[in-house]
Parts: sequence; C-alpha cells; structure tokens
Amino acid sequence: MNPLRQRIVLLGPPASGKGTQADRLSSTFGIPHVSTGALLRTECARGTLLGREADAWTCKGLLVPDELAVRIVAAWMKENGPRFLFDGFPRTVTQAEHLDKALRDLEAPLDLVILLELPDEEIRRRILERISCLACGATFSASLHGHAAGDPCPRCGAALVRRNDDTAEAIEERLRVYRESTLPVVGYYQKTAPSIFHRIDAGEGSDAIFAKLSELLEDNKDEG
Ligand code: ADP
Repeated sequence: MNPLRQRIVLLGPPASGKGTQADRLSSTFGIPHVSTGALLRTECARGTLLGREADAWTCKGLLVPDELAVRIVAAWMKENGPRFLFDGFPRTVTQAEHLDKALRDLEAPLDLVILLELPDEEIRRRILERISCLACGATFSASLHGHAAGDPCPRCGAALVRRNDDTAEAIEERLRVYRESTLPVVGYYQKTAPSIFHRIDAGEGSDAIFAKLSELLEDNKDEG
C-alpha cells in the first residue's frame, strides 16, 4: 500500500487510543509510529541522563519541558526522516510551532491532524484498567483481556506492568495538563491548518475507529 498521507499528528487525551491506533496504522501503511511518551520511557528504562530528567516530570503526570520533547523528536527525525505518525507530540503550542518550523525547513508539510475525542469518565476508567508492555508498547485492559501486571506480554514476552503515571492521582493531573496545554494545540491546528484537521469519536469500537482513520490516510489529496 502506498498512502499519500505520511506526516500525521494524532491528538487526544490520555487513553484515547492514540497508541493502539497508531500501531495498527503503522503496520498497515508502513509509516513509522513515534510515541514521545514511549521514547521517554525507553530513555528512562536505560537510565540515561535524559531519561532521569524526564522521569521527574512524567511520574507526576506533568509534561516534560518543551525543550526536551523537541530535542527527542528532532533526534528521531534526523535519524529517520520526515515520515511519521506522531502520538503524543506536539503537546503544547510551542512544540507545534517547532514542528511547523522543522517541516517548513524540510519542505515537507503535515498531511493530517486527527483529534481522538473521549469523555473524562471513560478516560479515568480506561487508565485504571490499563496494563502496559514497556518493551513493545502494547497496552491491554485488565478486565477485557484478563492480563495482570507481571504476566508475560502476549506480543513480545516481556513482563507487563502498570505504568507509574497510570494512578488515580496522576490521571487528574494529566487531564488538567491536557486541558491546559494540549487543547490549545487543537485550536492552533484548527486555525493554521483547517483543511487537514479532523475529529473522531474515540468512544467507538477500536475497529470502527481504525476504519475511519484508514479512510483519512487513504483519501486522495486532490479530491480533498
Ligand atoms: P498518555 O498519552 O497515555 O498520557 P504518553 O505515553 O503519550 O501517555 O505520555 C506519557 C508522559 O510522557 C506524559 O504524561 C508526559 O509526562 C510525557 N510526554 C510525552 N510526550 C510529551 C511531549 N510531547 N511533551 C511533553 N511531555 C511529554
């Protein structure tokens, strides 16, 4: 498959399914899935300086400083080039402006910005149910899939864990931070790139959401 859209930003609150959908889209369309949260967790697990710096913010549900998020994405793009499905970036207007500038310099504009919307109650419910694999990035719902922390990941075999920011206290902070810092990013794209901005109801089933996203990725630009 050779999609025309290959620079995509997925926006949405925590647990809106950005990671799950980005993973599926990445396997189907061959566009690299870049989760800044996962990149930061990897640095953290490796015990690098950057990882230790990031952990001080992430475990409290706070955003890492823009400079750090921009640095990690710039390093990724330098190595991999401007084809991406960003999940969790940009999370502030400053980060969005940095991304715009970097893409302008590369003459490679964004193709799609998609917002996954989910009510707070459903976010809380999903996060408290979430069991994650930090090795491959897979996530599972404890009640739906019957997995618990310590079980082997069905995908890669590493031990499943409850993320240290998937706690009742950190969730409230993450929701507050989302409203305060990331919702303005939605406004930013609505204003600067309305023709590529789309909303999707993330409360629907995973397959229905995937179908809608796939349609957007396959859509012919000239018809849009
Ligand atoms: P979720 O979408 O479930 O909140 P992520 O894996 O995307 O989880 O992010 C986990 C944490 O990593 C965030 O709460 C934040 O602390 C940090 N983080 C991830 N991406 C960014 C970013 N672009 N800017 C600042 N902090 C980030």
